[in-house]
Amino acid sequence: MRVLIIGGTSEGSQLARLLDGQRDFSPILSLAGRTKDPKIPITKTRIGGFGGVEGLCDYLRRETIHCVVDASHPFAAQMSHNVAEATRQAEIPLLGLRRPAWQPQPGDSWTEVVDMPSAVTALQTLVRGGQAPRVFLAIGRLEIEEFQRVPEPYYLLRTIDPPQKEPAFANFHLIQDRPPFDLPSEKALLEMHRIDVVVTKNSGSDATYAKVVAARELGLPMIVVMQPKPPTSEHVQTVEEAYAWLSQHV
Ligand code: NAP
Repeated sequence: MRVLIIGGTSEGSQLARLLDGQRDFSPILSLAGRTKDPKIPITKTRIGGFGGVEGLCDYLRRETIHCVVDASHPFAAQMSHNVAEATRQAEIPLLGLRRPAWQPQPGDSWTEVVDMPSAVTALQTLVRGGQAPRVFLAIGRLEIEEFQRVPEPYYLLRTIDPPQKEPAFANFHLIQDRPPFDLPSEKALLEMHRIDVVVTKNSGSDATYAKVVAARELGLPMIVVMQPKPPTSEHVQTVEEAYAWLSQHV
């Protein structure tokens, strides 16, 4: 069975590795190409956009794909929409693979917001409240510019690749690093930069959860962007469940 895995997450790569080399499956992993030096878990990996819904429909037919697993990041809403629409048009089974979102635990102090512009507004409210907080902006590199609306804080930025443009903040520090991150180093980072507030997307990922625990243990508030609703009707939360679903479809 030829399975197209829409990747960009560790779960997508894990599923690709699990199916690769098995007699019943021929997986192809698709990456957007945002990361300069991506980890390629299997040889049959394609990189780059398909060209919208139409391009993806063409690809599904040309490559005689039997089944699609959308294991893209919970915040890759455009891609998930395209996959849902293209598989509907091409009449190909689709499974969403999405880990559950993090849930606030006792000791967490979260302001939950629906999107990144609302996260900027939440931070602005803190600044208007009289503080110029030191902010750990743990949101990747693509939406950093939105925070230029709030120039007062010190920003600690962490990205895998450097941002396309030099951030226009007066006061910032940029670190390049790749998950997974562990608790002792996340705590040390927050303490070293005397961080007052953490801004993050609720990715639900184990690989980046240590910053949430570190903020809890240090008593720091977080501005947390909630996940957009997934468009796929059928979805599972683990690689094992995805494998079981695919095995039923062979
Ligand atoms: P997006 O806004 O939902 O997608 C924008 C366009 O990028 C899509 O229309 C598609 O182009 C292309 N694309 C996205 N994912 C693709 C994939 N896996 N394979 C082929 N083309 C893809 O996506 P995004 O938020 O920029 O995320 C890009 C990639 O990074 C995704 O693979 C995602 O899983 C991963 N990622 C995203 C985040 C995040 O916070 N957004 C975090 C970590 C990893 P065409 O229309 O031309 O097909």
